[in-house]
Amino acid sequence: HAKNCGKNNAKLYSSALTTQIMSHVKLEVGLRKALQHNELYLQYQPQIDVRSAQVVGVEALVRWRHPELGIIPPNDFIPLAEETGLIVPIGEWVLRTACLQARSWHQQSKRALRVAVNLSARQFKDESLAQTVLAVLNETGLDPRLLELELTEGTLMDDALATLATLEQLRGLGIYLSIDDFGTGYSSMNYLKRFDVRALKIDKSFISGLPQDSENAAITRAIIAMAHGLKMAVVAEGVETGEQLSLLEQFGCDMAQGYLLGRPQSQDAITQMLNSPSCAGAP
Ligand code: C2E
Ligand code: MG
Ligand code: MG
Ligand code: MG
Repeated sequence: HAKNCGKNNAKLYSSALTTQIMSHVKLEVGLRKALQHNELYLQYQPQIDVRSAQVVGVEALVRWRHPELGIIPPNDFIPLAEETGLIVPIGEWVLRTACLQARSWHQQSKRALRVAVNLSARQFKDESLAQTVLAVLNETGLDPRLLELELTEGTLMDDALATLATLEQLRGLGIYLSIDDFGTGYSSMNYLKRFDVRALKIDKSFISGLPQDSENAAITRAIIAMAHGLKMAVVAEGVETGEQLSLLEQFGCDMAQGYLLGRPQSQDAITQMLNSPSCAGAP
């Protein structure tokens, strides 16, 4: 009886595994076609200047409209894209699309709206990154000061010496850099102080418990103080309540992003927002 039971378990297990492998393979095959079939699209989430309450930038966030599975969020396919190397063409598409859109907003509205693009480790380590960015800037005509690349601590600290050189190349193009999900990885302060980075983005896990969570409040305050001491700006991610925003303002946080201030939304929704008289954009 026990043997029988074990057999059944094995069968159940392997069929579940098969399904998992199948869907993984299916996803990978699908992802390869996603670009050609125009299934990827970007949403843009506003970034607000805390003191003036003006929208100063947007973060581009990729989504996949799968023909059968519906809308797949980036956390469900970016890791696969990294593993397979597909992140390189996908990332280039994201960069070009976001830059084209930012150029169009700049032309239409005469307002300087910065666009932030997430870069994965694999893209950052690609030797032709600076060349690709330069080509996209030339092709789209976007003012480089309106482009920011978001990198994580892990990406930057992995090979910090090589990072110094890459950052210098990218800064040489006139674009800006920021550190995403700050506080969740490992940063060497010795290198952090040498990186030419415009802003630290405090990870939303520190913001979500504010204002009650006194430990996260202490961490948030300390990150802001450190960043300002290093002449970096601070963006708080995942701001969902007015209480969080006022605490952040009290702490001297420069910028904020989160559902309270605007969800990730279509380019048309951002265009509408830019055309409304109350919205000014970056100086
Ligand atoms: P991220 O760069 O840290 O982006 C912020 C994430 O937080 C986004 O999730 C955004 O929708 C979400 N978010 C914004 N405000 C709030 C809030 O108030 N509360 C909560 N709970 N969440 C909020 P999303 O769009 O699902 O993206 C997840 C991650 O996928 C991003 O995290 C980024 O690491 C990655 N990603 C997105 N687009 C790209 C891309 O084009 N390239 C690469 N390499 N990675 C991307
Ligand atoms: Mg980001
Ligand atoms: Mg983040
Ligand atoms: Mg993230």
